[in-house]
Amino acid sequence: MADECVFCKIMKGEIPCCKIYEDDKILAFLDIAPVNKGHMLVVPKKHFETLEDTDSETFKEIMLVAKKIAPVITKAVNAQGFNLGFNNKKAAGQLVPHLHIHIIPRFENDDLTIDKQPTKKYAEKEMRETAEKIRNLLKK
Ligand code: 5GP
Ligand code: ZN
Repeated sequence: MADECVFCKIMKGEIPCCKIYEDDKILAFLDIAPVNKGHMLVVPKKHFETLEDTDSETFKEIMLVAKKIAPVITKAVNAQGFNLGFNNKKAAGQLVPHLHIHIIPRFENDDLTIDKQPTKKYAEKEMRETAEKIRNLLKK
């Protein structure tokens, strides 16, 4: 745990999140500033800063969770595809120094590119409703 790390604070329940999935090693929740609705982060509970720091077992586990959840999110928000991505280190745009995978639902003609991913805001209640919808679909 890193005291100042925002994702460690989420793990400890000090900062709320819209949780989608949890097991003993991983927490997945909606990104607060989504590139598209349903944008989610898959995060190991243990604090690893970068991919280089992360052991292979943890890497495998977060990838498997992403594989399971990404198609469900896509369906929940009626997207046509998704991007999985790591921003690894500051130069690559990593703002939170706690390893995480982004799952970004993609829509035909959403006009996003790897360099151009402006964030959006959820309307009131929309973030919780989106999380609820994804969680319900995951149960099926
Ligand atoms: P990075 O640039 O490090 O790959 O992405 C970090 C992501 O974490 C950003 O997309 C940002 O919106 C998200 N984020 C930062 N702080 C919080 C927070 O307190 N709650 C949630 N749900 N997401 C956050
Ligand atoms: Zn952390």
